[in-house]
Amino acid sequence: MPLGGIRAMRVSRTLPHRELPTVGAWCFLDQFGPQHTDMVVLPHPHTGLQTVTWPVRGEIHHRDSVGSDVVVRPGQLNLMTSGPGIAHSEISLGEAPLLHGLQLWVALPETAAVTPAFEQHADLPVYEGDGVRATVVVGELAGTTSPATTYSPLLGAQLDVEGGATLPLRPDFEHAVLVLTGRATIAGTPLEPGPLLYLGTGRTELTLQAHDDDTTLFLLGGEPFPDDLVMWWNFVGRSHEDIVAAREEWERADQHRFGTVAGHGTDRIPAPPLPPLRLTPRRRRPHTS
Ligand code: MN
Repeated sequence: MPLGGIRAMRVSRTLPHRELPTVGAWCFLDQFGPQHTDMVVLPHPHTGLQTVTWPVRGEIHHRDSVGSDVVVRPGQLNLMTSGPGIAHSEISLGEAPLLHGLQLWVALPETAAVTPAFEQHADLPVYEGDGVRATVVVGELAGTTSPATTYSPLLGAQLDVEGGATLPLRPDFEHAVLVLTGRATIAGTPLEPGPLLYLGTGRTELTLQAHDDDTTLFLLGGEPFPDDLVMWWNFVGRSHEDIVAAREEWERADQHRFGTVAGHGTDRIPAPPLPPLRLTPRRRRPHTS
């Protein structure tokens, strides 16, 4: 199924995976770059999710249908909550800038009444452990809590690791780790930029060993998400019908559902055609951890 995200860039997409649709409520994870390029993503819709943009290098101009017109910078959390529907555009600043970062989606619980919103957090709390500095981007880590709005028990943190470190974890959460820069051994497994290391549930701590001076990791966690999700293009729903309705409403530019992104005239990204089959949920396969 085509899933949206950033095009025309080198992207490593580790969620959703055939055998692992979610980690907590995290349901989509792209690492883009590092790459010199112009990123131009015209207005496009989202439903049923929050987008988390976490730039490591480069600046991006973000505009959306709730009236935001901001620059997204490294070290700042950019959190867009779609509720039933939102639209946004993302355009890099400068000429072929060096871009590197993460784009993640968080699935919203079906029952939550969620209003579309955008928030930016430049002052994120830091958990200082032995050999590790954890910037808590979303959720809570060892008593350090991000101001970001969440709708399920969740964790997203950047870990700057020097030498060996141990980080306390919540055993009721499942966790996964990605390398942003450098190389590390995580819970005994060597990891380089690219793959996502899934750690399952039941861990009370995480051992980390950095192999480079600039080793930076991203830790994802959360309570295992209870719902089966139907994901197609930029939409998260619970059924084929949810996706068909969202697509139709975007294609006819339904103002009530998706609003307008100022500054783009009639430029927008059209939805791709639906495949000639019923969309089905991505199901979690049993894991041992
Ligand atoms: Mn988007």
